Amino acid sequence: MSATVGVAVLGSTGSIGRSALKVLARQRDRFHVVALTAFGQQEQLEAQAAGFHPALVALVNGNGGNGWRSGRAGLVEAATHPDADIVLNGIVGAAGLEATLAALRAGKRVALANKESLVMAGELVMRTARECGGQVVPVDSEHSAVLQCVTGHRPEGVQRLILTASGGPFHAWDAERVRHATVAEALNHPTWRMGRKITVDSATLANKALEVIEAHFLFDLPYERIEAVVHPQSVIHSFVEFVDGSVLAQLGFPNMELPILYALTHPERIPDTGVARFDPVAAGPLTFEPVRTEVFPLLALGRQAGLTGGSAPAAFNAANEAAVAAFLAGRAPFGRIAEVVEMVLEEQIVTAVSGLEEILEADAWGRRRAGELLGS
Ligand code: NAD
Ligand code: MG
Repeated sequence: MSATVGVAVLGSTGSIGRSALKVLARQRDRFHVVALTAFGQQEQLEAQAAGFHPALVALVNGNGGNGWRSGRAGLVEAATHPDADIVLNGIVGAAGLEATLAALRAGKRVALANKESLVMAGELVMRTARECGGQVVPVDSEHSAVLQCVTGHRPEGVQRLILTASGGPFHAWDAERVRHATVAEALNHPTWRMGRKITVDSATLANKALEVIEAHFLFDLPYERIEAVVHPQSVIHSFVEFVDGSVLAQLGFPNMELPILYALTHPERIPDTGVARFDPVAAGPLTFEPVRTEVFPLLALGRQAGLTGGSAPAAFNAANEAAVAAFLAGRAPFGRIAEVVEMVLEEQIVTAVSGLEEILEADAWGRRRAGELLGS
């Protein structure tokens, strides 16, 4: 047994994973890294393993050489490692769901960046946490902000969440220009440096739809009490309105290391000097705009999928992942992402989902149908 808290970092070579390792490198007297996992990026994973000496390394698409684990089994082994108190899930996309569920079943705290887990399987994920003594703590900056604002307050006191959205690189573009935006333009996010998939989701505002659904399950609030507002500076990470009308917000320069650290320590705080301290004058004017729903239809489409419930959010997520992949591969124009997702949702025969199998079926169907519509 180690005196420090064990952390398994899944998706350690990604944007979230690398930020997590920066935090953990500064906090070695409190945390140690138990496991590292990645998909591809073998050299980077090797360098990380040499720096942190984890008990387990998994290269999901590897061959099991040099003592490393591989395959989905390797991922589950990392997520359930007996020395891991916390599992930080920084995997992108539906591929992260199995590890989230496995970690919760093993009673772990999951520091969850992989929002797709909650979008696909929100009820199952939260139920598994409750039944198995696990805990879901958000890493997503908006949800971390909400958690920081509501901690210490009774849930009945919360009236409404207002999630902030940067609006992405196209927040002020006209509709026609947005429809034909290039990959380079979509990846040029104004305030955050992140993986490619979430960066495109931020440009379409699908990311905010995923986050509304994520917030619904994390904070157990009906959709009509979760709103979004565009805030191009990304300094206010979200607002919480209480029943008396008072509003709390959490602020900081955009940097994921803060919400990652908070997910590890919640409800405590520990000293950390790794991130630039806030300076309200340097932050400059903070502005807010309504979401232009006619230019960015994916926010309303995803919110509606959340409201519909059952298999709808899993299909929304899957169709979006397939369409984003096609856009990034140069096989579809930007405007096609929302069109394809809308068509898939219109065609879907929504069913109730009680277990993982039905969720994975909805995911597979949404992905396949989007692929057909995209001509791939
Ligand atoms: P990324 O693409 O930079 O990294 C993804 C990681 O997952 C990599 O380590 C990759 O090797 C691994 N991976 C990819 N496919 C996999 C598969 N099939 N099986 C197992 N592992 C796989 O992505 P990111 O930007 O770090 O985002 C990760 C998650 O965090 C996403 O769900 C994203 O929405 C969420 N998130 C990211 C940020 C951010 O600032 N990057 C902020 C909020 C939420
Ligand atoms: Mg976010």
